This record gives sequence, structure tokens and C-alpha cells, in this order.
Amino acid sequence: MSKRDYYEILGVSRDATEQEIKKAYRQLARKYHPDVNKSPDAEEQFKQINEAYSVLSDPQKRAQYDQLGHAAFENGGFGGAEGFGGFGFDDFDSLFDMFFGGSTRRQRRGPVRGADLRYNLELDFEEACFGTKKRISVTRREICPHCHGNQAEPGTPIETCPQCNGTGQIQSARNTPFGRMVNVVTCPRCSGEGKIVKEPCSQCQGRGRVQKTRELEVEIPAGVDQGFQVRIPGGGEAGSRGGSPGDLYVQIYVRPHRFFKRRNDDILLEVPLNIVQASLGTELEVPTIDGRVKLTIPPGTQPGTTFRVRGSGVPHLHGQGRGDQFVTVRVEIPKKLTNKQKELLQELEETFEDTSKGFFGRIKEAFGR
Ligand SMILES: [Zn+2]
Ligand SMILES: [Zn+2]
Repeated sequence: MSKRDYYEILGVSRDATEQEIKKAYRQLARKYHPDVNKSPDAEEQFKQINEAYSVLSDPQKRAQYDQLGHAAFENGGFGGAEGFGGFGFDDFDSLFDMFFGGSTRRQRRGPVRGADLRYNLELDFEEACFGTKKRISVTRREICPHCHGNQAEPGTPIETCPQCNGTGQIQSARNTPFGRMVNVVTCPRCSGEGKIVKEPCSQCQGRGRVQKTRELEVEIPAGVDQGFQVRIPGGGEAGSRGGSPGDLYVQIYVRPHRFFKRRNDDILLEVPLNIVQASLGTELEVPTIDGRVKLTIPPGTQPGTTFRVRGSGVPHLHGQGRGDQFVTVRVEIPKKLTNKQKELLQELEETFEDTSKGFFGRIKEAFGR
């Protein structure tokens, strides 16, 4: 009897995504579930749908099927060791989810991605502005180089767990008034690994991973700021059971600068002026992250006035250009004066008698003194 193509059964294309396959399966399984559909061939349809799904939803089985067709799962085929026949475990799980809710009731014995790691990196103000390369030392779990992660001492046997036949799970089914209930637990014999190592690897004690400290060079782009993260794909811990490694996140902390403050990509600077400089105007040399620049202070500059130095700010992290630098003047009133300075200021004060018909002059007039 010729078997129908699994893709055809689910009504999906051969390059369908996992999501598309899952969606198609759910729709068909609801339609043909024997409790719902009373037509005589519903049960057979339902069985085929589940069989197709159990293969196409498993990347490994799907690859075998794509290569060999149904032959992949006949006796003696690649699938033999997996104990494939009729319903796979995934069917029970999917049905259970579909009709009783929930989704992650059990642990899957699939690849497990490694954990992400975080590294706190402190930078100088200028390093954050212009970017830099840093060597950092990261301690992480890596695939054991001795056993290559398979946990056994090289040359010693690894056996398929006889209790779960390598699936890592033990399931029991019972009939209830609501239908068939399936309970799946992690295999106690192999702790869900599906295999039994006769002699654990001497370097990792059978863990498959070992702690390693590595020096890594991290490229910090120009324009990063406090709280920014640089992601290094695959820089985290090794996965297990063939899972991909996690990522490394380098968390940026910026040491405060003596003079500069940062507001996004602009740099703020405060400079002191004495009363004469503010009154008569002056030329200042102010620091920027590129070095000193000339800044003209016009006569009559008021305290708190801000001047902009265009393009002297922080380079934009994504894209071209830079922020600006803003220079705010703080006019300092002298706290101590020499006798000579007092005389000069008094002399100055007298010259204001005639000219200060401003605010204070008007107050004097109003209060008659
Ligand atoms: Zn090892
Ligand atoms: Zn087992």
C-alpha cells in the first residue's frame, strides 16, 4: 500500500516553516478528531495527520524524511533506533495541549541553548565617545574538549537508556470520562538524557561542559553611553545536547568626567568668568573632547548664558555626524578683594550713579530715598 506524502496530508508546502506546520496540524486535528468528527474515515485521517505531524515537526525526522521519504522510518531505517512507529510522543503532547490547555508541562529532551552572560565594563568618558577595543576576561562553561560534550570518557560505550528507549521520557496513558489522559515524566533512570554513560568523562566528570576563563577582545563602537549593551553573539555559555551557545552582553558604565557632562550626544561644560570678562567680553580657550577651541565671549554676557560649539559633541552611535558642545558661563563675584580692587570698584560704582536709572534707580525714586 502506498503511503501519502506527509506534506500533502498536512496541506503545506515542502518549505513550510515550523509555525505553518503547527498551524496546519492544529486546524486538521480539530477537524478530524474522532470525538468531533463522526464520519467513518475520520479516525484514519486523524491518525495520518498525527503521523505526518510527528515527523514534520521534528527537525531531525523531517530532514530524514526529506531525504529518504517513508523509507526513513521503516524497520532498519535511520528512525529505527528512535523507536518510531505510529504515534510519536509529540502527538500525545500536542493533543494534550490542545484539549486540556497548557503547553510546557514537560521538559523536552531537545537541544538546550546556553545561558546568556553579562559583563560589566567601565569606560572613560572619551572611550565611550570615540569607541575603543577592550580585552575582557570571561569565565563561562564551554563544551568539554576531552569528550566533545558527549559526557563519556573517549573510547567507552554510551548506551541507549533501556527504560525510556532513548526518549528521556516515560509516559503512561489512561482513559478518563474526558478522553485519554497522557502523563509524561522525565525518565528516572537517565534523568531525561536518553542515554547511559558507562564511564563519565574524566575532565568534566560527565557534565559535558567545563568552566573556562577566556580573554576576549570587544569592539566598543563610538557613541555608546551609560547603560548601553554590546552584544557578542555566541559569547555566552555553551549549550547542551547540541544546543547553540548563549550570547555575551557587555554592559557599559561610563566613569564621570572632571569637566564634561553628557546629554545624549551633546556635551555640557561650565566655565567661570570674572565680572570684568563678562562685562567687557573676552576670548576663551575652552576644552572639548577634540582639544581646545577658541570661544568669543561678547561684552555684557549675562550669568548662565550658553554658547554652542557645533560638532564638538559625541559621534552619533548609529550613523553620521556628531552632537554639539554647550558652554555655559558662570560669572563669579569676588569674595575677597584687595584694597586696590575695592577702590576701583567704588570708583566704578560712582560712575553708575548717573547711568543706573534702571530697576534700582526707579525703586529709589519710588521710596523717596
Ligand atoms: Zn568531558
Ligand atoms: Zn531513560
